[in-house]
Amino acid sequence: MYELMVKDTFAAAHNLRDYKGKCERVHGHNYTVMAYFETAVLGKNGLSVDFTILKKYLRKITDTLDHRNLNSDIAFFEKNNTSTENIAAYIYHELKKKVKNAAVKKVAVFESENSMAAYYE
Ligand SMILES: [Zn+2]
Repeated sequence: MYELMVKDTFAAAHNLRDYKGKCERVHGHNYTVMAYFETAVLGKNGLSVDFTILKKYLRKITDTLDHRNLNSDIAFFEKNNTSTENIAAYIYHELKKKVKNAAVKKVAVFESENSMAAYYE
């Protein structure tokens, strides 16, 4: 098996609901997203899936989140809190809808250099 990872970033505002602390107020993060894929087959050229293609899929999703207020601008987060965990799950499911030539294994979202949540099934 082969594992591939592509990385992207986006900046967004959010605030946590049902949470007591400074993150209940609107603030922003420069999020880093790492999307992991798995493939079993290589082409004759030794490549499984071109990184460029995987990056394009991920960018399509991060573009919809970039410079947005996640709480009010993205329908998914009207009912789901904008926790890093839920953002990872959202991106995972959106990727799964789009990527057909590799299995989406995991999405890790860093809300800062030192804080990450990942989602996988
Ligand atoms: Zn935050």
